[in-house]
This record gives sequence, structure tokens and C-alpha cells, in this order.
Amino acid sequence: MEQEKKLPLSLYGLSPEDITELLELPKAFYGKQIYAWLIKGVSSFDEMTNLPKYERERLTQLMPSISSSIVASTDTDESGATKMGIRLHDGAIIECVLLVDKKGRHTACLSSQVGCAMGCTFCRTATMGLLRNLAAEEIIEQYMHLIRVSVKPITHIVYMGMGEPLANIAAVTRSIRFFHQEDGFNISLRRITISTSGVVPGILKLTEQRLPVKLAVSLVVADNKIRDRIMPINKKWDLNELKRALLHYQRLGGKRFTIEYCMLHDTNTDEESAKKLAYYLKNLDAKVNLIPWNPAEDMPWETPSEEEVDRFTHFLDRWNVKYTRRRPRGREINGACGQLAVPINKGLEYDFLDEDDED
Ligand code: SAH
Ligand code: SF4
Repeated sequence: MEQEKKLPLSLYGLSPEDITELLELPKAFYGKQIYAWLIKGVSSFDEMTNLPKYERERLTQLMPSISSSIVASTDTDESGATKMGIRLHDGAIIECVLLVDKKGRHTACLSSQVGCAMGCTFCRTATMGLLRNLAAEEIIEQYMHLIRVSVKPITHIVYMGMGEPLANIAAVTRSIRFFHQEDGFNISLRRITISTSGVVPGILKLTEQRLPVKLAVSLVVADNKIRDRIMPINKKWDLNELKRALLHYQRLGGKRFTIEYCMLHDTNTDEESAKKLAYYLKNLDAKVNLIPWNPAEDMPWETPSEEEVDRFTHFLDRWNVKYTRRRPRGREINGACGQLAVPINKGLEYDFLDEDDED
């Protein structure tokens, strides 16, 4: 007996050929037509008017064209940021964010998991634990939802929402290949950033797959003892192992790294921390992105004062560390977090785009 085919949650993530095969379409160009509609943001089969009516009806019966829906959307704040709550097919809710930077570039900040298992002590998402990984189609659908509220095309993607992307690398790389497809969104790999807390096997896998996206590494502190304490992942892959993986990635074509440095009052803002950071970054083509800790309720951390941040930048200057320190975007819509009725991750400190970049 023929085994029943396992259908994906939706068609997002498939090539025209995959669609033709999966849906057993009688003509290959139907697959191309469906793909073109999906890229345009039309996901209801009924609206795919160049398909014969009987096919549209059959497909509507067969599977949903999109598996998630928008349940909440904040007002756009002054910087142009909009945050959305997305309900998945099983009722779980995740967030994604549309960001606009000073240059007018539109960026989608996507989640890769529901919650996160990494347990970083300063991050709100960690308090949720890991509920599950997202499927590639669920990652891509976040982008589709964001397109709807974006007045301009979204040209950049960052995997910096909920979750650790390299702990769900198969779905994340599938979504990247989809975004990168020439006859689709055609987003250059240089405009895609994966942010990782330091999942070494994931970095090695990216290297092996020759997927030279930009890598943002949430280093937070360049001291194994402190990092062990605030980022449990460090006990599995410590700073030395992480650096080896980054050097390997760099050698085989990876672009400049961003080192995300979440500034925690009285923890990683003294001169010793700057010195250790400078030493750690030796031989790495990296730029540090300073992000003062974004307050989250009931968490045992404090945001450094302006003076503390200033002081740290002087230390970095002294130790020749390149850094950016930018105004946070998306902060004003923080207030809307509670309205989503989901455990919100760390608020909206999505301040990561390298504004000096030409891309
Ligand atoms: N899991 C991935 C990507 C999501 S977290 C990672 O850790 O890189 C995205 C960024 O938010 C990380 O750089 C993390 O260090 C930072 N972050 C987490 N909680 C924060 C907070 N409360 N304030 C500021 N930045 C925070
Ligand atoms: Fe997970 Fe990143 Fe938050 Fe750490 S900072 S708990 S890895 S989402």
C-alpha cells in the first residue's frame, strides 16, 4: 500500500519543482505559478487566479496555504519598528519585528524557536525554556507577515528573535536558501545575519555548508569564569573552542563578525573586561556592538548608566577595539509587549544592524 505523503505545514520553503511534485500538479508550470503567488504574498489558493478552478478547490481541500496568523501588532514606533505576535498552527505564539534603520533599510527580525534552551541569565526568552523548534515554513511565514506592514521591500534578515538559530540549524538554513533563491526574494547572503550564543557545532556546520551569511556572536563577556555563570552554553563550548570555530569560519569565507556585547552593570564594563575583549578579538575580523542591557522584570541585572557606557567605550578605545554604540530601535513599542499575552523575550533591544555597512 502506498504510504501517505507527509505534507509540510505550508508551501513556504519549497521550490517550484518541489511544489509541483508535492501537490502532484498535472503541469509543471502550475508549480511555478503557485511559487510566484507565494512570493507576492498571496497565500490563499483561491486568489491564485491563473490556476484552473478545480485545482484551486482541490488544493484548498488538501492543505492550508499558510500555517500561521498575526494575532497582535504594535503601532509603529518613531524609529519605524513594528512588533508582531504570530500564532502558530498548534497555538504557540512567537514574535517577529520589522525594523527600519537610519538609512531607511528595512529588516525582518525572525524567531527560530518557541522559547530557548540556552538559559542566558540576562535574557527574557530563557525564562520560557524551549517549547519547540520552528519549521522552515514557520520562519519564512514571519517574513511574509512582516511584508504586509512594511511600506518598503524588506531587504535584510536577522535571526535574532526568540531562540537560538544554530540549535535549529536545518530549518534555519532551509529558510535562508528560500530567501536567497534568485527567482524568489533574491536576498543576498551578506544581508542575512545569524545571531548565536556560541553553538560551536552549528558554526562548523555553516562553514561546511559554505553558507557565508553574516554571523553575530553574543559574546557578552570575554572571561570564561563570568561567562560560565551568566551563559551556561559556555560550559559546553568555552571561549577557546568558540574562537577556534570563528577562526575556521573566517578562514573559509565568512564575512566580518559582529560581537554582541550586552552590557551588564558592574559585570562586564570595567577596564579588565575591555582588555580581555581586545585580547579575545585578536585575529578576528570583528566589530563589537554594545547593547546596554534592556531591563526585563524580575531579572537580577541592572542597565549600566550612560557614564558607565561612556567609560567602557574609552577603555575600548584604549585597547583598540572597534565598536558601535547605537541608539536602540524598537524601544518605544516595548510598552505594547504585555498586550501580546505571551512571555515576551527580552523586550525590544534589537539594535544590531551595522549601520556603517554598505550592503
Ligand atoms: N539566541 C541568539 C539570538 C537571539 S538573542 C543569541 O543569543 O545570539 C539576540 C541578542 O539579544 C543576543 O545578542 C543577546 O545577547 C541579546 N539580549 C538578550 N537579552 C537581552 C537584554 N535583556 N538586553 C539586551 N540584549 C539582550
Ligand atoms: Fe537564548 Fe539568545 Fe536568549 Fe541566550 S540570549 S537565552 S541564546 S535567545
